[in-house]
Amino acid sequence: MKNFDLIVVGSGIMGAFHAYHAAKKGKKVLIIEKDNFPVSATVRNFGQAVPSGSAGKWFNYGRRSLEIYKDIQQQFDISVRKNGTIYIASDDTEWQLANELFDIHQRQGYECSLLSKRQCLDLYPELKQDYVRGAIYYPNEVSVEPNLLIYRIIQYLQEQLGVTYLNNTGVINCTDVSGKVVVTAAGSQLYSADKAIICSGYVFNLLFPEIYAQSGMVVSKLQMLQTVPLTNVSIKGNILTGLSIRRYESFEQCPSFKNITTPEHYSELKKWGIHILFKQAIDGSVIIGDSHEYAPVGRTDELGFDTQNHINELMLKEAERIMSFPVRKIARAWAGFYAQHPNDIFEFDVSPNIHIRTGIGGKGMTTSAGYAENMIASLL
Ligand SMILES: Cc1cc2nc3c(=O)[nH]c(=O)nc-3n(C[C@H](O)[C@H](O)[C@H](O)COP(=O)(O)OP(=O)(O)OC[C@H]3O[C@@H](n4cnc5c(N)ncnc54)[C@H](O)[C@@H]3O)c2cc1C
Repeated sequence: MKNFDLIVVGSGIMGAFHAYHAAKKGKKVLIIEKDNFPVSATVRNFGQAVPSGSAGKWFNYGRRSLEIYKDIQQQFDISVRKNGTIYIASDDTEWQLANELFDIHQRQGYECSLLSKRQCLDLYPELKQDYVRGAIYYPNEVSVEPNLLIYRIIQYLQEQLGVTYLNNTGVINCTDVSGKVVVTAAGSQLYSADKAIICSGYVFNLLFPEIYAQSGMVVSKLQMLQTVPLTNVSIKGNILTGLSIRRYESFEQCPSFKNITTPEHYSELKKWGIHILFKQAIDGSVIIGDSHEYAPVGRTDELGFDTQNHINELMLKEAERIMSFPVRKIARAWAGFYAQHPNDIFEFDVSPNIHIRTGIGGKGMTTSAGYAENMIASLL
C-alpha cells in the first residue's frame, strides 16, 4: 500500500489549494480525482476573484488568495490577469450602497475608487448610458480562465511541488486503521496517509452520505451563457451590476442595506436568483450569467441537467439593458452546480485525521487559496 502524509480527495479548487499548501510545507501529498479532469464548479464558473464581494474572514481569505494567485502566476502561467473589478450601480439605491461600501473598504485599507457615470462610460464604452448611475472600482482584483486555471494548477502541483495526481479514480471509502487513514478507491486499490481531507464538492453519495444528509447543505444550480468571440468588444476585468450590489455579502454591511426595497422591474429576476455578471475570456467571447435555484442534499437531481430558456431569456434581456454589444450571439450555454452551507462552509471532522471541507458556495474561486492556507496551518 502506498503511503503519503496527506491524501486529498477531489481536485477542484478546494482540493488543489489544500494540496498546494501541504506540499509547500514539504508534505508528501496524493490527490485523488474521480474524473479524468475536474469538470465541476471549478471549470464552469466565471473565473472572477472578487474579495470585494465578501465580508469578514472571507474578505481576508479573498485578499490573501489574490496574493497567492499572483505569486504562482509569476512562476508559472495559471491564467491570472489583473484587470480589476467594477460594480455598476443603476439607480440611487445601488449608488448609495456603493458609496457606503467605498467608505468601509477605505477604512479597511482596501484600494478602491468611486467612478462617475462619465468615467464608467469612458472606461467601458459598451455600457448603455441609461443604465449607469456610477460605480465602485477595485483595481487590484484578478480574473482567471476557469477552463484553464485548474488544469495548470494541477500541472504546477505535479511538476514544481512533487504532488502525486491520480485521476479517473473514485474514492469509495476512507477510514482510520491503526493510527493511519486508509482510502479505498473503486477497483479496491488502497492508499494510506497520516491525514485525509475530503474536498468533494457536491458529490454526496460516494463518501460519508449519512454525514452529508444531516449537514444542512444545499446545492445551487446556476445557468451560464457564453457569446461567440466578439473581437471588436473590449470589456476588461470582472463586471458586476446593480443586482449584484443588491445580492453580495459585502454590501450587506452597508448601513442602508437593511432598508432597501426591490423595484418592480427586478422582481422576476430576483425570483430566479438572477444577477448579471460579465467576464470576457482571452478569445474575446463574453461569459454572461447567472441564476440560482436550490435543492437540499438527497434531492439535487430535481434541479435537472438542462438549462431553462425562460431563465436564459431573462438574463439576456437584462444584459441588453446594460450593454450595447450583441449579447445574443450565444455560442454555448451550460449549468453549473455548487454546494453551499448556511455557515459559509461545511467543516466536519469524521475522526482526528479525516476532515471534510466543502460547501464553500459561490466564493470558491475567490477565497479557496487563502482559506486552505489557514486550514492546512491548523491541521498539519
Ligand atoms: C456557474 C458558476 C459560477 C461561479 N462563479 C464564480 C466566480 O466567478 N468566482 C468565485 O469565487 N466563485 C465562483 N463560483 C463558485 C466556485 O466555482 C466554487 O465555489 C468552487 O469551484 C468549488 O470548488 P470545490 O473544489 O469545492 O468543488 P468542485 O469544483 O465541485 O470539485 C470537487 C471535485 O471533487 C471530485 N470528487 C468528488 N467526490 C469524489 C470522490 N469520492 N473521489 C474522487 N473525487 C471526487 C469531483 O469530481 C470534483 O472534481 C461559481 C460557481 C458556478 C457553478
